[in-house]
Amino acid sequence: MERLEAAQARVTELTERVSGLETELADATARRDAATAEIDAEAAGIAKDREVIVGSMPEALMALYEKIRVKQGGVGAARLYQRRCEGCRLELDMAEVNEIKAAARDQVVRHDNCGRILVRTADSGI
Ligand SMILES: [Zn+2]
Repeated sequence: MERLEAAQARVTELTERVSGLETELADATARRDAATAEIDAEAAGIAKDREVIVGSMPEALMALYEKIRVKQGGVGAARLYQRRCEGCRLELDMAEVNEIKAAARDQVVRHDNCGRILVRTADSGI
């Protein structure tokens, strides 16, 4: 009789633990689903923004960008920041810096090392 009561108590305890774990699983699943929906919405917004930008770019430049992007694992253009290409992380040598300095503002410049289009900003260091 004593063994039966002990076994029943253990069954009750384990049943409660299972119930608690099922609740935790349901909560975690709901949080995951909410986060996924948020990420999907953000991705859709970014894709829409990208479409607008692509639509405003010259076709030849977009073709060049796509060609480089595919070849370079998804990054076709990179910011030139303090004389460093943020695509391949290499610092440009002085000859390249001087070439870029001499280039017209609307001229497409590329990094000799990785071939990516370099995006010049006020922080480019040139
Ligand atoms: Zn580079």
